[in-house]
Amino acid sequence: MESKYKFIENGDEIIVTRSEIEYLVTTSEMSEEEKDKAVLDYLSEINAQVYYDETFNNYQRATKATAKYPENMALLYLSLGIASEAGEVAGKMKKWVRDGDSKMTREEWVKAMSSEIGDVLWYAARLADELDLSLAEIAEENMIKLLDRKARGVIGGSGDNR
Ligand SMILES: [Mg+2]
Repeated sequence: MESKYKFIENGDEIIVTRSEIEYLVTTSEMSEEEKDKAVLDYLSEINAQVYYDETFNNYQRATKATAKYPENMALLYLSLGIASEAGEVAGKMKKWVRDGDSKMTREEWVKAMSSEIGDVLWYAARLADELDLSLAEIAEENMIKLLDRKARGVIGGSGDNR
């Protein structure tokens, strides 16, 4: 997912991607560091803000309709739920390791994995909602964190605050 930014120009809200800005303000002779600086300088010059795609937020809102758990136990319920669904992903993987395509086709297995990943996503969305967080912002910040680690060459290490 590419970072997007919004700014106002002649009263209109304009949404641009990071690569569009890079195309505009960088040259191929620049180092990655110089490119980053040029992009950040430009973003500040046009008073741009991070733009959050609403897809995740719309999904987050929609999960409310299927949220059924005791309100006073919401965080406990959802934390157990997301771990349980992640376990189901692991279970499907385990069965594939054990059985290969002797019990189901790869296509069926991928479909089953897809369904469990969806269950994990539902719990992630509900957790975000109960904590008054935005799933779109979580996705965006996660991407920024990982891209930053990649840029600093520490993506393969361990520890939450690398
Ligand atoms: Mg499941």
